[in-house]
Amino acid sequence: MAKLPKSPLQQLDAAHHLHPFTDSQALHHKGARVIERGEGVYLWDADGNRILDAMAGLWCVNLGYGREELVQAAEQQLRRLPYYNLFFQTTHPRATELAATLATLLPGDMEHVFFTGSGSECNDTVVRMVRHYWAEQGRPERNTIISRHNAYHGSTLAGASLGGMKPMHAQGGLPLPGIVHIDQPYYFGEGGGQSPHQFGLQRARQLEQKILELGPDKVAAFIGEPIQGAGGVIIPPDSYWPEIQRICRQYDILLVMDEVICGFGRTGHWFASEHYGLQPDLLCMAKGITSGYIPLGAVAVGSRVAAGLIKGGEFFHGFTYSGHPVACAVALANIAVMQQERLVARVHDDIGPYLQREWASLSSHPLVGETRGLGLLAALELVADKSDNRRFDEDVGAGVICREHCFELGLVMRAVGDTMIISPPLVIGRAEVDELITRARQALDLTYQTLMN
Ligand SMILES: *Cc1c(COP(=O)(O)O)cnc(C)c1O
Repeated sequence: MAKLPKSPLQQLDAAHHLHPFTDSQALHHKGARVIERGEGVYLWDADGNRILDAMAGLWCVNLGYGREELVQAAEQQLRRLPYYNLFFQTTHPRATELAATLATLLPGDMEHVFFTGSGSECNDTVVRMVRHYWAEQGRPERNTIISRHNAYHGSTLAGASLGGMKPMHAQGGLPLPGIVHIDQPYYFGEGGGQSPHQFGLQRARQLEQKILELGPDKVAAFIGEPIQGAGGVIIPPDSYWPEIQRICRQYDILLVMDEVICGFGRTGHWFASEHYGLQPDLLCMAKGITSGYIPLGAVAVGSRVAAGLIKGGEFFHGFTYSGHPVACAVALANIAVMQQERLVARVHDDIGPYLQREWASLSSHPLVGETRGLGLLAALELVADKSDNRRFDEDVGAGVICREHCFELGLVMRAVGDTMIISPPLVIGRAEVDELITRARQALDLTYQTLMN
């Protein structure tokens, strides 16, 4: 693609703005992609190009762009009470209403929530909360948390430590002490000839091995995403989660589900814990809770930990913007729209199966080694040779090539290595799914031409 001169905005941006998760040198060379406007599942860039956003922003714009209900809710709350905090024995109506509403949607015995401003803050909260809980039980030595390689739990010190992203750990000496990792249940990449069932059990039993290696009375909790999102939409074999839950119960380890992506209808359930038959002790949510219109996170707390915390005196933890009233008002409006439009059932019974069927048709493409998905999450694996699913050398950058072709064709699809992933708004229509698949196929064709020449 010919390199165009940078616009004044791109020049300003390069001069003053350091971007998250961005190679700044490459950005300064090219100029940032400028997104100006959104409506439904579409974005418009500064050149007027219409782009189908198959990632719902960063997995969050579940109701799509431009929802007047959410705008109204924010506006009304800004006028009435734009800010107050929840510290020192205080609440405001929207925080209390949202906590009570979430309790009706959450799995099992989760009746309490602790508000934060983001997914990362949820996971920082989890680390402090589970350690505080065990200390209050007279077991302060139960402080190690087990997570997984290639997990994503956010970008703060605790979030990045719980996460298992090697490049993140390499910058700044992470993980923090007391956080250890086991292998991920990534069948396509690491299944090594076992059946999916066997592989799922084997990866789950690494948790048991790790618990025994550390000593069961040293372990506070296990944390995992039901489906790893940023790691590449990794859907574990069905044998995996039940075995993890069994092991957590056997050794009295708290089970923490990070549902920052999977929550709020993404998998066709309010929470993916329901899909996998899990009753976690703690559950993290953010992203879809407000459809990304405004930052908010919450940690749901099951009865056991809640009882401990309530008895345990003051928990010296919280954020200025924990349960911000405008964010809570938007979350309440977001949930109300989801209920009115029956979006969770729609993902489960209608648009989810439709998308999965169409997405699976891409598996016939010569570059595609596997397609997989659940609800409105999906992934495909780019391979150099379909006969044995041999992958491209890393320095080929097949995923990035495909992603750039998608952009040129007006489609946002994300690349994780050579795994292409999507997570479109829950409101996407059938014709829009068809357009997504058509463009994805065109992008695969162009990627094929680029790579085979
Ligand atoms: C995005 C994400 C986070 C971090 O959320 P932020 O709001 O970016 O801090 C944590 N966990 C999971 C599973 C995520 O996908």
